[in-house]
Amino acid sequence: MEVENFNNEQSEKRYDSYIEAMNQCPLCTTELEIVYRVKSDQEKVLEEAQCPSCKVKASTKEHHLQ
Ligand SMILES: [Zn+2]
Repeated sequence: MEVENFNNEQSEKRYDSYIEAMNQCPLCTTELEIVYRVKSDQEKVLEEAQCPSCKVKASTKEHHLQ
């Protein structure tokens, strides 16, 4: 799977610090759910942070696998 490149040890550390800063909904402060959508044909991973309470997408980031 192409997501292997993203899911290495270095990326996990960066991901943890990102989550500490950005893991709350700006509207209701509920903890966000992070969803990764892999677009394998485009070699990208879309990272979406969504509030499970009010269904607001707080942020979407693109990660290039290569
Ligand atoms: Zn919310």
